Amino acid sequence: MTLDFPTIAIIGLLLHIGLAAGFSLILLVMRGHPVPRLWAASLWAGALGTTLLGLQGQMPELLSIVGRNAFAVLGSVLLLCGVALHVGRRAPLRPALVLAGGYMLCIVWFSVVTPDLGIRLTLYSLLVLLWKGWEVWLLLRHAPADIRRSCRIAAVVFVLDALLFLVRALLPVAPGAGGDILRAGLPMNVTYVGSLIVMMGHTFALVLLIVERQMVDLRRLARRDGLTGLLNRTALMDDGRGQLAQCQLRRLPFAVLLLDLDHFKRVNDSHGHQAGDAVLHHMARTLQRNLRGRDSLLGRYGGEEFVLLLPATSLEQAQALAERLRTALEACPLDSDIGPIAVTTSIGVAADVDATLERLLARADAALYRAKAAGRNRVVCDLGVEPVAVA
Ligand code: GH3
Ligand code: MG
Ligand code: MG
Repeated sequence: MTLDFPTIAIIGLLLHIGLAAGFSLILLVMRGHPVPRLWAASLWAGALGTTLLGLQGQMPELLSIVGRNAFAVLGSVLLLCGVALHVGRRAPLRPALVLAGGYMLCIVWFSVVTPDLGIRLTLYSLLVLLWKGWEVWLLLRHAPADIRRSCRIAAVVFVLDALLFLVRALLPVAPGAGGDILRAGLPMNVTYVGSLIVMMGHTFALVLLIVERQMVDLRRLARRDGLTGLLNRTALMDDGRGQLAQCQLRRLPFAVLLLDLDHFKRVNDSHGHQAGDAVLHHMARTLQRNLRGRDSLLGRYGGEEFVLLLPATSLEQAQALAERLRTALEACPLDSDIGPIAVTTSIGVAADVDATLERLLARADAALYRAKAAGRNRVVCDLGVEPVAVA
C-alpha cells in the first residue's frame, strides 16, 4: 500500500476544520461558558496550523514554519488553560506562555540560524509530551470526584496522543527531506495518520468532559431550592431515606424537626414579597450557621416550612437543638433596607428508631400544629413518644 501523503494531509486538514467547526456549535447552546470557548479556539488554532502545513511550498518557508508552530503552540496553551479551569484550578497562563515563547525561539533558531527539520520535529514532539503530561496530571490529580470518569477517559486519550509524539521524537527523519515535513518519510507519515485518528478521539473526549460537567451541574441544580440554596423537598426525602435506613440498621434513633415561620403572611402583606423572600433566605442562613459541623440534612420543605433531619439523634437531643435554633432566629432579626424585620418560628419535633420518614414527618407536623395552637414561637415534641412543650 502506498501512502499518498499530500492527499492524507488534505484529508487531515478538512477533518481538523470539520472538528473545530462541529465543536464550535456547542458554543451556540453554551453561551458564557469559558471552557468550551477556550477549547473551540484551541481546535481552530490547530486547524490553522494544519492549513499552513498544507500550504507549505506555496508560501515563504519561514512564514509557514513559524506560523504553523505558533498556531500549534497557541492551540496547546488554550487547551491547557481550559483543562485547568475545567478541574477548578487557575489557568497557568504565565508558565505556559513562557514555555511557548521559549519553544518558538528554538523553532526560529533551527529554521534560520541552523536549519534542521529533525531537531524541529523532535522539539515539537517533546513540547507535546510535556504539555500532554501537564494536562493528564491536571485531569487525574485535580479532577473533582463527580467529574472524575470523563477526566480519566480524556486522560487516556491524551496519553495515546503523547505516545504517538514520543514515537515521532524517536524516529529519524528521512534523508533528503530538507525543510519539507511532507517528505519526512513513511514512518513519520504513519504517525501523522495516527495523530488524525487520535485527534478525533481528542475532540470527542473534550465533548465528553463538557457533557459530564453539564450533567453534574444540572443534577446539583435539580437538588437545590432556588431561593435559599438548601436541599429541595425531593432531594431531602431521597437523602433522608438513605440516612434513616443506615440508622435503622444500627438501631439508632432518627429525629425530624419541622420548622414553620410564624405569621409569615404578615411579612409579605406589610413589607412585600421581596422582603418575604429575604426573610426566607435569612432563615436558611441562620439555620445553617447554627448547624455548622453537625451531621444533618436541612431542606426547604415548602413555602415557609423547613425540615431538619438528624441521624443518630434522640428526641431529647433534637428538642434541645430545636430550642437553640428557635432562640437563635428570635435573637437575630433580618437587617433589611426598611429596618430590622423580626421573625419567629414554631418547631415540631419527632424521633424514633423504627418509623418511616413519612411517618416521622407526619408526627412532627402534628407537634408543629400544637405549637401553633399553643401560641407560636415554641418547640413541641411528638405526642406519640412523650409530649414535652417548651415555652
Ligand atoms: P402561621 O404562623 O400559622 O404559620 O401563619 P403564616 O402566615 O406563616 O402561614 P400561612 O400558611 O397562612 O402563610 C404562609 C405564607 O407564605 C403564604 C405565602 O404567600 C407565603 N409564601 C410561600 N412561599 C413563599 C415564597 O417563596 N416567598 C414569599 N415571599 N412568600 C411565600
Ligand atoms: Mg406553613
Ligand atoms: Mg407559617
